[in-house]
Amino acid sequence: MKGLTPDGNEGTDECPICGRINAPGECDSCEHHFGSLWDGEIINSDLFDEFEKLWDKLTEIAQNLGLESSVKIKRLRKHLQLSKSCVSLLESAAEGESTTAVLLAKLDFEEGDRVCTGSMLSGEGVELYLDDKSECQALNELVRALLQALSQPESFTVVTRGSSPRRKIALTATWGNDDADSTVKLSPKTWRLIEAGAEHTRGTWSYYEGKRYHVTWHFQSGLVSINGEDGMECVKDLPVRELFVSESS
Ligand SMILES: [Zn+2]
Repeated sequence: MKGLTPDGNEGTDECPICGRINAPGECDSCEHHFGSLWDGEIINSDLFDEFEKLWDKLTEIAQNLGLESSVKIKRLRKHLQLSKSCVSLLESAAEGESTTAVLLAKLDFEEGDRVCTGSMLSGEGVELYLDDKSECQALNELVRALLQALSQPESFTVVTRGSSPRRKIALTATWGNDDADSTVKLSPKTWRLIEAGAEHTRGTWSYYEGKRYHVTWHFQSGLVSINGEDGMECVKDLPVRELFVSESS
């Protein structure tokens, strides 16, 4: 306990920017409070939720357009005259970076005191503070502008110009009692390299009991490991030949 907040709640954190005693659990915090970073995920944040909606859309479009290819990004950058920060956002989206990872990379957060709990609900977390929330609004605007630009049919033509119809290889893994699963889509070329033992990392979603969790697929030496954001090992060193493989468009 840090003393009482100005509103009389039991304070649990102190803002590193203005020094106010805050009680985020009681929604009694200064204007700088952004949310909590708990076991590697930002939670309890309206600004996070707002950004996530936009980011999910951008991820879907970037992956559908195959923007993990640098040639396609280059064409698009030229055509739409994209700024450096737009290109970097598009690359992150195409790689399937999580909302938390993007916000932590792009916004200038300050952290409150670290909190650990060791009981049944164990974990580690910290409150996140942002001196200037217009930074976050600017990021939202940037993603909105990108979505707008990418939704023009012309963008699609620019990206797919001269390439054969996009064929994709979908890989699916399941774990637990086969009640959790995740799928990644790769170009046939990338898949051939992976089968030959190449190293490749890709972020995507997994699904468990109707809920979605961010996972990272890591291929190396013909084996695949899939890890959750909280360090959970979903799949460890599975031979890639044991994955469920299908063709998709
Ligand atoms: Zn503050």
